[in-house]
Amino acid sequence: MIETRVVVAGCGPAGSWALYNLAKNGVPAVGLEKHAFPRYKPCGGGLSPKLLQVLPADKLKPLIEVVIKKLVFTFNCRDRFPIESGEPIAFMLRRPMLDKMLADHAAQAGAKIYFGQEVTGIQQHRDYVIVNTPEETYRAAFLLGSDGATGITAREFSHGSITSYPTITCMAEGEFPGKSQEGDAVWINLGPKNGVYGWIFPKKDYVTVGLGIFKKGVRINLKETMDDMFRVHPALKGMKPGKYYGHPLPVRKRLGGKLGKGRVLFLGDAAGLVDPFLGEGIIYALRSGELAAGSVSSENLPGPVRDNYSRAVAAEMFPQFRSAGWIAALIGSFPSAAYKLLKDHASLSDFYRGVMMGESKYTEVVSRIRNRLVKDHRLPSDSIPRK
Ligand SMILES: Cc1cc2nc3c(=O)[nH]c(=O)nc-3n(C[C@H](O)[C@H](O)[C@H](O)COP(=O)(O)OP(=O)(O)OC[C@H]3O[C@@H](n4cnc5c(N)ncnc54)[C@H](O)[C@@H]3O)c2cc1C
Repeated sequence: MIETRVVVAGCGPAGSWALYNLAKNGVPAVGLEKHAFPRYKPCGGGLSPKLLQVLPADKLKPLIEVVIKKLVFTFNCRDRFPIESGEPIAFMLRRPMLDKMLADHAAQAGAKIYFGQEVTGIQQHRDYVIVNTPEETYRAAFLLGSDGATGITAREFSHGSITSYPTITCMAEGEFPGKSQEGDAVWINLGPKNGVYGWIFPKKDYVTVGLGIFKKGVRINLKETMDDMFRVHPALKGMKPGKYYGHPLPVRKRLGGKLGKGRVLFLGDAAGLVDPFLGEGIIYALRSGELAAGSVSSENLPGPVRDNYSRAVAAEMFPQFRSAGWIAALIGSFPSAAYKLLKDHASLSDFYRGVMMGESKYTEVVSRIRNRLVKDHRLPSDSIPRK
């Protein structure tokens, strides 16, 4: 049996960043990752520039393949309008390389990471937690569960607090018609059904295409819808899709409660820390890793560790998630009105851009949309729920 203070299960962005911060704080920790890196992870590989406030620029910049200064919206693969910016709106990179860089960065800071080690069992005791892999047993004061949306932490501990929305994604290589039409732009498609959206993220020599659902209860065949998107979307015409991958996008059901149970803390996707509007999760995974590492570094008792961590995550993320959820529900329920609203009101689309860039907050966007709806439709201001 190996004894340590902290075991970190899963070394994606949340786990690696937790391990980096634990190493910096001099806390003994072991990271267990079931795959060898680099490994594939269904992801758009899109990062908002606010990530530069979290990660060191000298590590991140060499990985950036495309700098995005333009978004192009379509409705049901038709019509189109762009939002442009003089500054970067997003960075595009290869996700496996980001995760490898983060794990290497943690290892360089002194973190121990064992690859090819799957956590298969977790037993909580009053004073410690036992973590099993097929080869080894670990005893630690705390376990940081950063094993993603489908890992053992989500399955055994945090499942009830998460709604998993299905997504499908693929890579497509070859000449990208969207590039000749709009240059290096991210394309967002609303529709074909309420609550369904598509996205196209360009990389240097391929594009990542995805489809997601951001409304509860929507039933749609994502594979067929993806086939349709390749047939009719103007930016994809003639492109051949690669293999389709499905993966859940976990969103917290209730923005409150504890982000842990006993001596296990939930991080990143295992806690459902994903922006319910953009589906962005990497930055929140990193931040949760840093906050969890801070909490286990400064406290010994499981109650205070869990409470401090839960409070810090709630204060930093939940007000924004609440407003992002409100926008997602609005756009998901009325996509054609939302498309028109964005298209007709430059100030709203500018706010959208501002959120991605980290300049404005969702809470401000929501009050802007509410005011616009009240003014344009002469609605009583209390007829639109506040968030
Ligand atoms: C289709 C799609 C597109 C997305 N696009 C974007 C995007 O463009 N930008 C963005 O910011 N976010 C995006 N996201 C969200 C983002 O991918 C996640 O929020 C992010 O990966 C969460 O990081 P994590 O470290 O919590 O989990 P993960 O990245 O899932 O990492 C979990 C790690 O744990 C390992 N693991 C699992 N089980 C075990 C086990 N039992 N033992 C040991 N190791 C284990 C896994 O191998 C994995 O390496 C997208 C998500 C989806 C589904």
